[in-house]
Amino acid sequence: MIDSYDVKPKHIIDAHTHIFEEEYRERYIEETFSIDFSIILNFKRGADGTLDGLSKSADVNNITKYFILPVVKDPRKIEHINDYYYRESKKDQRAVFCGTLHPDHPRLDAILADLKLKKAKMIKLHSVFQRFNITARQSLKFFEKVVKADLPVIFDTSRIPPKYLTNADRPEYYANPSKLLKLHEILPELKIIAAHGGGLFIYDYERRNLIDSGIYIELSSSYYNCDWPKNDYDVSLENFTYMLNNHNQDKLLFGTDSPWQDQKADIEKFLKLQETGKITKEQLENILWKNANSLFGLGLK
Ligand SMILES: [Zn+2]
Repeated sequence: MIDSYDVKPKHIIDAHTHIFEEEYRERYIEETFSIDFSIILNFKRGADGTLDGLSKSADVNNITKYFILPVVKDPRKIEHINDYYYRESKKDQRAVFCGTLHPDHPRLDAILADLKLKKAKMIKLHSVFQRFNITARQSLKFFEKVVKADLPVIFDTSRIPPKYLTNADRPEYYANPSKLLKLHEILPELKIIAAHGGGLFIYDYERRNLIDSGIYIELSSSYYNCDWPKNDYDVSLENFTYMLNNHNQDKLLFGTDSPWQDQKADIEKFLKLQETGKITKEQLENILWKNANSLFGLGLK
């Protein structure tokens, strides 16, 4: 497919994909696609949520590396899920192992040491699902440990609309741009990656505060979603391109959030941006692989 484009990136690194355990994989995927926000957010079916599915997609889309990011609501299942992701990552040398944690976990040090031993490349956190405030005292203590372990942290940034939340979910759990910036100010050594172009269900004027802030921005699901709540595709594309052209050029990362987006379709969006002159060839290479290669020390040439 890339063959139809003049410029072909040397590598492609997808910094954001998911797999799910077999017993609930299909049900979870179907349930998510049946929620109306999957339409609002322009979800498009990607791989099937298995390592094998991602591996096949990597074959046909020339993907050199893909990061698999664990999602777990229950802190008691963290070690189980990390182990599952680790085992699965061993099935394909292109899969990059990442872990998850919770700031209140009683075995933080042991889990961080284990993740380092297993060469995890980053930690994935979903503060809404996992119910914690990213700037609370306990969280800051945790992030200090993460800095010592030298692990970047990717935050899910969805400001899930209240109607999808339960009574136990609180607005202070959102990883809003303002919260991420506060965390960045308190702990500048922490490598923060804001998933989804800095936020889903946020206004573009909030997103703009992240631009050129030194926080990494991973771009999955943001192509069509930079003009919420109007969802005007042309304005979204304009805002998205503004972000690509004005953010720190070494801190933009390509990601798809597969299975919620399709890798082929997402790669083509960036190739088209280059072909239509909205970004340069150098920007394309930086976004699609060079930035992730240097942030995570992957050693690709
Ligand atoms: Zn995700």
